[in-house]
Amino acid sequence: MANSKDIASLVRQNILEMKPYSSARDEYSGSASVLLDANENPFNSPLNRYPDPKQVLLKERIAELKGLTMDRIFLGNGSDEGIDLLFRVLCEPERDHVITVDPTYGMYAVSAEINNVEGRSVLLNRDFSLNPDAVLDAVDKHTKLIFLCSPNNPTSNSLEHEAVLKIIDGVDCLVVVDEAYIDFSQGPGFLSLLKEKKNLVVLQTLSKAWGLAGIRLGMLFAHPELIEYVSRVKYPYNISGLTIDAALKGIEDTARRSIWIKAILEERNRMAPELESLPYVREVFPSDANFLLIKMDDPAAVYEFLMIKGIIIRDRSSVPLCEGCLRITIGTSEENRALQNALKTFQP
Ligand SMILES: *Cc1c(COP(=O)(O)O)cnc(C)c1O
Repeated sequence: MANSKDIASLVRQNILEMKPYSSARDEYSGSASVLLDANENPFNSPLNRYPDPKQVLLKERIAELKGLTMDRIFLGNGSDEGIDLLFRVLCEPERDHVITVDPTYGMYAVSAEINNVEGRSVLLNRDFSLNPDAVLDAVDKHTKLIFLCSPNNPTSNSLEHEAVLKIIDGVDCLVVVDEAYIDFSQGPGFLSLLKEKKNLVVLQTLSKAWGLAGIRLGMLFAHPELIEYVSRVKYPYNISGLTIDAALKGIEDTARRSIWIKAILEERNRMAPELESLPYVREVFPSDANFLLIKMDDPAAVYEFLMIKGIIIRDRSSVPLCEGCLRITIGTSEENRALQNALKTFQP
């Protein structure tokens, strides 16, 4: 029976038993005017004050934006904090393991290694589609997390909805769907399924479509019980006051974000066939994100050539299933023109 397990039964014993750090302001819920509890400097307002450890204001706005209740939201120092905390909350080192579906975002495997947790790799199909049965076959009683990334980095495609659902419904462990690129995607994503799928975790970020990678704000959406455990383990003041303010300001302007997304997608759709017509390019893979994965004859030479011209892209040619591939982020039209002009002068 899928999803039958309690969240608590997946959580490490020490985390179930721990007493989280509590500040005086956690324990007091009025609005005080004299704050002499935290050994702050009374001068240099407002930066002298510790930020809200629960990020209530920002969570209220994000809850509204996403159509969720606040108790399903965890905010982290980038998505990377959410990923690392899932390991620390759920995975007993040297006993439990996680499954990644490769090629994919490198941080899942890095976090696994840091936490001394085995990362089992299942490959996507050759066309980058998801094989749910291969993932289900790799699951056993010590599997705690399955990482799926949709749209996937670096392959740029979205995973098939039905295939992802088959995994979510077929396991007792947690299934993380990383939606860092969802705002560029045609698909609806998985956030609307959060209420009915207890073992679903969705990651999103302000780093891509919102244009706020510099402030470091990642969002983890999950069952309230899991949010509670993850919140226990985080640093008390994990999101700075500067980040909270910039995020509140940034997410107000949804019109600006829509304009950016439209511009980026138009550029992507213009560039894909143009790049594909270059003589040494074999294939530009269909993209549902703000980057293109491109297969070519001599990726190392192209990468070097662009680097000398001051254009930095990502060489993914050593990644399984991405042999010969470079990954190119869609920039401004000027940046994209500079890239394309350089590529036109490349002599294979
Ligand atoms: C860029 C990216 C992120 C974003 O990470 P942050 O720490 O939020 O900046 C997350 N997942 C994937 C797959 C990405 O490519």
